[in-house]
Formats: sequence, structure tokens, C-alpha cells
Amino acid sequence: MEENSSLVDELSAWDKKHFLHPTSPIQQQQDLGPAFIFTEGKGVYLHDLLGKKVIDGMSSLWNVNIGHGREELGLIASDQMTKLAFTSNFATFSNEPAIRLAKKLSDISPGNLQATFFTSGGSEANDTAYKLARHYWMLKGQNNRKKIISRTKSYHGVAIGSTSATGLKPFRDFTNSLAPDFLHVDNFSSQALRDLIEKEGPETIAAFIAEPVQGAGGVHIAPENYFKEVKEICEEYGVLFITDEVITGFGRTGKYFGIEHYGVTPDLMCFAKGVTSGYAQLGGVMLSSDIYQAFTEMSKGTLLHGYTYSGHPVACAVALKNIEIIESEHLIANANQLGNELLKGLQNVQNKCGIVGEVRGLGLMGAVEIVKNKSSQERYTNPVAPLIVSAAAKNGLICRSVVFDGQDTLVFAPPLSINKEELYSLVQILTESILSIEGTY
Ligand code: PLP
Repeated sequence: MEENSSLVDELSAWDKKHFLHPTSPIQQQQDLGPAFIFTEGKGVYLHDLLGKKVIDGMSSLWNVNIGHGREELGLIASDQMTKLAFTSNFATFSNEPAIRLAKKLSDISPGNLQATFFTSGGSEANDTAYKLARHYWMLKGQNNRKKIISRTKSYHGVAIGSTSATGLKPFRDFTNSLAPDFLHVDNFSSQALRDLIEKEGPETIAAFIAEPVQGAGGVHIAPENYFKEVKEICEEYGVLFITDEVITGFGRTGKYFGIEHYGVTPDLMCFAKGVTSGYAQLGGVMLSSDIYQAFTEMSKGTLLHGYTYSGHPVACAVALKNIEIIESEHLIANANQLGNELLKGLQNVQNKCGIVGEVRGLGLMGAVEIVKNKSSQERYTNPVAPLIVSAAAKNGLICRSVVFDGQDTLVFAPPLSINKEELYSLVQILTESILSIEGTY
């Protein structure tokens, strides 16, 4: 696509001058311009303005679960936009797609999650969960229960509450003032949670929040009994248990929701991303029937929390169609089966490459640790995973590196619609890319 190169130059110059990118290395953008200017997507593939085709090994931001370019979602959005693009849900006004989606979510979610508060994304969902959990305790006359406990290596988003909850320190250090009453605890130690609750006083703790599988922090999978133990601890001390299913929801791990792997149920559950596969902006928090009942029976005035776009009709219509596709095309079963293939593939990468240490995965979430020495698991002083990500992008695969907290990790989350052949090419490009970098060390 030679003819596009002058357009790329022009857009790159404007990008550098006018576009402050989210979660991006600013200096790299200023030096090199945008890494890709994407124009189209189909299935697991993305195409850029220069005609380059790459496998979207991250489902973009862990969210394009059904894959790119599904016309049905465009059509439903267009229909809904033409019929009723927007109406408020404040003051008890409502709309059909939002009502139907709230009902559907209560049918598919674990435990007794009954009612949904809608947001436009995951950060808003988490901030809403903290506020609703605290308000619940106020309704119960326990005004001191305000502290929120989250885990090291967690990522909960970038609103002020969700930044404060995020366990990855560089995100908290980005701003020099955070919200009060957020505490962090070791990500896999239930005893550490118990100790912290006892130290702070259970009567001061509103909720504990955890991702069933930590995503942005490096795809960390909890030990088998961890969630059973923390749920018991939460019950023992009357602490609400919130699961952040923003990545793990809607089939990503091979079950509808990630927490279902662990046989426990949350009191509140945050979701976003996969609910629309990224075709529209939507998130939300689900409340258990007990919590919802407290709101419906004990609230006196108005629920003074609401986003203009809470329950946006177009986003909700898109979500309903997206969920229909996930179900009718058996994408959760596919995530489960192809997740096993992904893990096998990563184990092959481990065998073939000298600098690959541990590999792990659950469903279509996978990780590869880069090490200098396989037997001691010693790491390189400067992380190597970002170099592999660049090599892979050149070779036709988008994946991501995680270098927080001294990690040197590659992570993967391809669309749930991926087939075997596409998965094998992902693994092959990854292997070639690692070997090409390995050769230079
Ligand atoms: N929670 C988790 C587990 C996430 O991975 C993310 C985003 O990656 C968020 C919350 C924040 O969601 P959003 O970027 O939609 O605000």
C-alpha cells in the first residue's frame, strides 16, 4: 500500500502533535509516531494503513472476545441508534435494552447476583463498587466500614478509587495524591488478608476486591484453595467480597466468569470489556440479592450515584447481541479447548527457547516468563520482553510485555473465536520472535 505512505506520514505527524495516548510511552510516540494506524479487523486479524496484517494476540485490550469485524454488532448498533440513541436512566426512566441486559446478566452470573448498576467501563465499575459497598454499610448503620483491601500486582483501572486500589505501584505513583482508605495485601496469601483485617479492625473494612486471574499484572493464577480461603475470611469478618471480572468475564478463562473456577461466589462483581467485546463502551457492577435488598428496602432518598451513560441503550443492545454470539457459537467452550492448546503451545515455546522460564495459562489467558537462566530463573537486568513484543509485531503478532515489579513477562489473550490454525501461527511467530532476540544476547 505504497499509496498510503504519505497519508501515514501526515497522520503520524498529527498524532504526535495532537493525540495524548492512554498508557503509552510518550517519548517513543514523539520519536517514532504511532506503532500502528489500524483500519480494519476481521476475526483474530487486524490490518493497518500500510496494509500490514497482524494477529491480535491480546484481543486488543483483553476485550474483543468474539473477534473483530462482526457485522451483526454494527447492524444492531445502527438499528438502536436510529430508533433511540440515548435516553437517561436517572429519575427511574428506563429503556428496553438496559432492562433486558440487566435480566440476562442475572441469569448468567454466579451465585445470587441479582441487580446491575451500569457504567461505561471497568474503572467506573470499580469506583462504583467501592461506593456502593460503603453505602451498603452506611445503610446497615456501620459507618466505619470504609476501607477497601486489594492485592499486590492487581490492576483495577485509572479513576481515582480504582487507581488507589491498583496494586501495581507505578500506576499509583503516576499521581501524587490518592484516595484514602485503600490498603494492599500480598496477592496469594490468605493469611496476609486475615492478618491485615485483624490489624486494622474488621469493623473498619468495607470490602476486599480481587481479579480471579490477575491480568495486566502479568496473568497470575491463584493457588487452588486461595479463593475458598479468602471467601471464608471475608464471611468470618463480615467483609464484602468483590470480584473484578473486567478481563475474566464473558468466557475469557473458559467459564462464563473467572471466579467460577474456584467454587465461591462474590457479593459484588465488576465487569466491562468482554460484555460488548469492545464494540461499545460498557461496564457495570452486579449486586447480590442481599445487598440489593438493603438498597431497595433501607434506602430513604435518592441513590446519588449515576453516570450520564449508565445503561446506554446502544451499548446495552450491543452487549445483548454479543452475549447471544458468545452463547450460540459456543465461544466459552472454545476458550476452554483452545486455552489448553495455547498452554501446550507455550510449553513448546519453553522447550525450544533458551530464555523462557515458567509458562502459565487459564483459558485464553497466557503468560511466558523471560529468564537469563532457566534453572535458577534469574532475570536479565534490563527486561527483554519489550524487545520480543517489538520483534513479534514486526513478524505479525501483537502481544504485550509486563515489566512491573521486576517482572519480565509476555502475556497473551487472543479472541475466544480463535481456531487451531490461527493459534498455531500465534505460537510459531512467538517462537521465531523469541529466538531472534535470544540470538542477539
Ligand atoms: N479492572 C481490570 C481487571 C482491568 O483489567 C481493567 C482494564 O484493563 C480495568 C479494571 C479498567 O477498565 P477500563 O480500562 O475499562 O476503565
